[in-house]
Amino acid sequence: MKTCKLSELGEFGLIDRIAAHAGSSESVITGIGDDAAVTALSLGMQLLTSTDMLLENVHFRRSWHDPYRLGRKSLAVSISDIAAMGGIPRWALLSLAIPNDLPLDFLDEFTRGFLSMAEEHHVALIGGDTCSSKSGLIISVTIMGEQLPERIILRSGARAGDEIWVTGTLGDAALCLSLLESGSGSAQTPAQPQPAALLQPAGSFLNGVEGKDCLVRRLLDPTPRAAIGRALAETGLASAMIDISDGLLADFEHIATVSDVGGILHLEKIPLSTTFNDAAKNFPSFPYHLALSGGEDYELAFTAPVANHEKICSLMKKCGIQSTPVGIVTSSPGVVVITSNGDKYQHDLHGFNHFS
Ligand code: ADP
Ligand code: MG
Repeated sequence: MKTCKLSELGEFGLIDRIAAHAGSSESVITGIGDDAAVTALSLGMQLLTSTDMLLENVHFRRSWHDPYRLGRKSLAVSISDIAAMGGIPRWALLSLAIPNDLPLDFLDEFTRGFLSMAEEHHVALIGGDTCSSKSGLIISVTIMGEQLPERIILRSGARAGDEIWVTGTLGDAALCLSLLESGSGSAQTPAQPQPAALLQPAGSFLNGVEGKDCLVRRLLDPTPRAAIGRALAETGLASAMIDISDGLLADFEHIATVSDVGGILHLEKIPLSTTFNDAAKNFPSFPYHLALSGGEDYELAFTAPVANHEKICSLMKKCGIQSTPVGIVTSSPGVVVITSNGDKYQHDLHGFNHFS
């Protein structure tokens, strides 16, 4: 992309610049450039729609988050919402409020990252909105997906006796964030240099921790579990599902509340990465709270009848994703965490909440 300034390019120049790389898809009849996009739903499918905002200094910091991975994450968090319904992600709208002094290079890299995530998941960028911002970069992504009505997995389907499962490992993103917030490391990789003034000093906290790049990736470039979500929908194995964006406890509580059930989670069953276990040695006490209440894992939590256990294991093996049963749905309300000696784990249950 030829570089000039945002002020020279203007709103429509920037839209053209984004549109030039947006690609096309058979389901998009009219994409970027008209008053509304026209898309074709597949036969018999229902539309799934979700929207998310990412605000500078609330959800991301420009000093930690390189623009390419910020672009990827902006779409990944929305794909994760479609995955959590068992849907197939299809179309996205990208709205940007941009500070006047944001370098055009930043926007080019952001767009490149956004579109790389879009391509990986066969999502077409079909429109958006572009304006200036007086207080930081604001990114808003609306995603649409589709699925047959009988396959859509809601939060409300959990039943007493169902197993509670989670994909992948929990807490890596929150661990990385806590290290960065304590000034203990740098999220920059040598491949993506940033002006020296923006770099955080690479502290000693992550030094000697094997796989620290993996921690950084979990926070800055999460992988939405789209294939798993869809596979669970197509096989009908799960009874309820949610993506873990605010921490397992808070997110499972949402399932429990709308399903009118409760749950018991076993602390020793919570899947942790080797890197997490390694880094945990540097904490005064084992940081279970990061795995239970730390946000931004973008793994899936789902419930399923015990009878489906073996089938779920085979499905996960086929998808190449670790999946772990971590507890049981109960008929009595409330979500409790039990330690290996049967005691109640005392925790501060709340995940991230913007207004508390
Ligand atoms: P309107 O005046 O109807 O709001 P705009 O001038 O904002 O239309 O947008 C023109 C076209 O460009 C529309 O198709 C819109 O969806 C698309 N568009 C605007 N901003 C973006 C963006 N950031 N990314 C992708 N498409 C965009
Ligand atoms: Mg507009």
